[in-house]
Amino acid sequence: MLDADFFRRWMTATAVSVDREAERLTALDSPIGDADHGSNLQRGFTAVAAALEKEDPNTPGAVLLLAARQLISTVGGASGPLYGTLLRRTGKSLGDAAEVGEAELAAALRSGVDAVMALGGASPGDKTMIDALVPAVDALADGFGAARAAAEQGALATTPMQARKGRASYLGERSIGHQDPGATSSALLIAALAEAGS
Ligand code: ADP
Ligand code: MG
Ligand code: MG
Repeated sequence: MLDADFFRRWMTATAVSVDREAERLTALDSPIGDADHGSNLQRGFTAVAAALEKEDPNTPGAVLLLAARQLISTVGGASGPLYGTLLRRTGKSLGDAAEVGEAELAAALRSGVDAVMALGGASPGDKTMIDALVPAVDALADGFGAARAAAEQGALATTPMQARKGRASYLGERSIGHQDPGATSSALLIAALAEAGS
């Protein structure tokens, strides 16, 4: 079973890897965006880690709702409300249980990804974070390691795509040939999930 401590480890591991990869995420956002994805998420997850220290939420759902609030209020870019929605809907789906099973987490995360698609209007193939998140959720039934591999593959697979949503879509065909920054950070989020579970 996965308790609040597991979810806290997931969020802090994400903060650590976003911090470590911030320059790379921003570099990916340079040719097809406005070169701020790394700094946006670094600001957001730094706030998440600080809030978790300070407030000590004691259920899985409460950890994710607190994290979502921080992301929505501190990340300026498109990714803030989108990641905020992902964690908020996932947290709401988990309710106020003290512990949840892996299957419940998989179902909750799927509802979170569906909420991101509803908010941003992106579908798989549009060259967004969705291209890492959907394969990850599909693979989650086979465990965290499988989800991590699927998210990393999904992020790599955005390179030949033409962007149809977000800032990169303004470039039309010129968005082809670059890996999507948001899909790349989503792979970090899922890798952190695998780390928390190991
Ligand atoms: P901004 O584009 O506002 O500067 P960020 O650079 O932080 O925001 O985030 C850009 C990332 O957000 C993109 O790489 C993409 O993965 C994701 N994104 C943008 N728009 C959408 C959308 N409508 N649906 C899903 N993801 C999106
Ligand atoms: Mg940007
Ligand atoms: Mg921006």
